[in-house]
Amino acid sequence: MEHTRLGYWIDEAGDVTPRPPLDADRDADLLIVGGGYTGMWTAWHARKLAPEARIVLLESEPVCGRGPSGRNGGFCEGVWTSLASMRDRWGDAPALAVGHAAEAAVDRIEAFCAAGDDDAWFRRGGYLRVSTAAAHDGVGRPSLAAARELGVADKLLDVPAAEVQEHCASAAFRGGVIEPCTATVQPARLALALRRSLLAAGVDVYESSPVRRFRESPDGVEATVATGARVRAPRGVLAIGPAAKSGPLRHRLTVASSHIVITEPVPDVIEKLGWTGGEAITDGRALVHYFRTTPDGRIAFGWGGGRIMMGARLRGRAEVDADVVARQQHHLLDYFPDLAGRRITNAWGGPIDASPTHLPAVTSLPRSRAWVAAGYTGNGVGPTNMVGLTLASLALDRSDDPTRLAFVDSKAPRVPPEPFHWIGGESIRWGIEKKEEAEMSGRAPNPVASALAKVPALLGFHIGR
Ligand SMILES: Cc1cc2nc3c(=O)[nH]c(=O)nc-3n(C[C@H](O)[C@H](O)[C@H](O)COP(=O)(O)OP(=O)(O)OC[C@H]3O[C@@H](n4cnc5c(N)ncnc54)[C@H](O)[C@@H]3O)c2cc1C
Repeated sequence: MEHTRLGYWIDEAGDVTPRPPLDADRDADLLIVGGGYTGMWTAWHARKLAPEARIVLLESEPVCGRGPSGRNGGFCEGVWTSLASMRDRWGDAPALAVGHAAEAAVDRIEAFCAAGDDDAWFRRGGYLRVSTAAAHDGVGRPSLAAARELGVADKLLDVPAAEVQEHCASAAFRGGVIEPCTATVQPARLALALRRSLLAAGVDVYESSPVRRFRESPDGVEATVATGARVRAPRGVLAIGPAAKSGPLRHRLTVASSHIVITEPVPDVIEKLGWTGGEAITDGRALVHYFRTTPDGRIAFGWGGGRIMMGARLRGRAEVDADVVARQQHHLLDYFPDLAGRRITNAWGGPIDASPTHLPAVTSLPRSRAWVAAGYTGNGVGPTNMVGLTLASLALDRSDDPTRLAFVDSKAPRVPPEPFHWIGGESIRWGIEKKEEAEMSGRAPNPVASALAKVPALLGFHIGR
């Protein structure tokens, strides 16, 4: 097994020639820091809304999309599965508006994939959330009820246990809920396709250009990269993913980690499971397992049970964690025992920008010349396109529906300072893991673990959907 930080998707997508670093001062109309999906979709929307605008995008890695955007599970989701929590937080109409905007984003990604020459493996098979323990049989039910009450019953469908077996015949699966609008993609191929389209559209992309200093003034923004070169613009967007924890979103994010293993091609196992509809599937745990198939017959299996990182640490065990991956391989066999003896070819991981609300947020910096977006909590592949449209609209001084979506400058609980944040976060993670392990094997959870698992809700935090 090859266990690396960048992982299978980035290898599979192949090499591209990196863009040179910024080495001279530049002026622009819009400055975007970060070349993941959020930054790239912001540039893409801005280019469409203002074809003449001079857009500069700065990315620290040698190639855009090498962070979480190129390494994720490739679930390109709407947010209907979060409808109940959005409704609790924002009310009926704002929750519905975000639900529709996120679904429209998946449609746009489909159209983007269909229009280009790059095959990003976009396949719409729905997102099935299944229970794998009696204690998790309520999975997806609050949002299912909310969808019915709010007149969007077609956005989330009840899937009784017998029907779940028709989607994927794992003996571990019970009943569930499906979000039909969800697709799967090859994340690194999507990132490279987006990068290529930006270059073709004349966006100035500078790679290997880490921003060391970002200043907002009443006149605009100024970013200085490692070479000392600067970009000045009247408006700026910080789309730096989990790195926002080290700066403007210090009190708004927790950096956790998630890891993925992928099998050798196992088309016979997939056939036997009847898992041929391209469904993206998760279980109902808070430390969620997520799994999908690929066009060449592999199974990718991820786990959101990775460690909480101290502060904004994004490397080390946030990316390569042998202990977590070893446990994950056992979980894979619990769900798919027919994979015993089959090879895991690759493992990798990456940091997750977890927000206390489980929802992304767009936050204005104090002088309203720049915005920062993060907090997708492991669910950004589809929503980054929606958030990118909001960021582009805000940065171009538009006042339209995307700028009025409820995640713009929304209130959220603050996370405590270090070291309390890390100590508390790791204790809660331990509690949830132990509680869920007990539930999976039908045992009564240890009372200490159960008590710790309840702490986030007492603080107003939303763990899981
Ligand atoms: C293992 C894993 C599995 C996941 N699975 C899924 C999934 O199946 N479905 C889903 O919806 N979501 C998933 N996610 C989450 C998803 O990948 C993210 O929500 C999404 O990629 C966020 O995109 P982003 O552009 O905001 O952030 P990022 O992808 O983190 O991009 C930020 C970019 O900013 C750059 N940057 C940071 N600091 C600087 C700086 N100072 N100067 C210049 N550049 C900088 C980084 O190098 C990076 O390229 C997963 C994440 C991980 C790690």
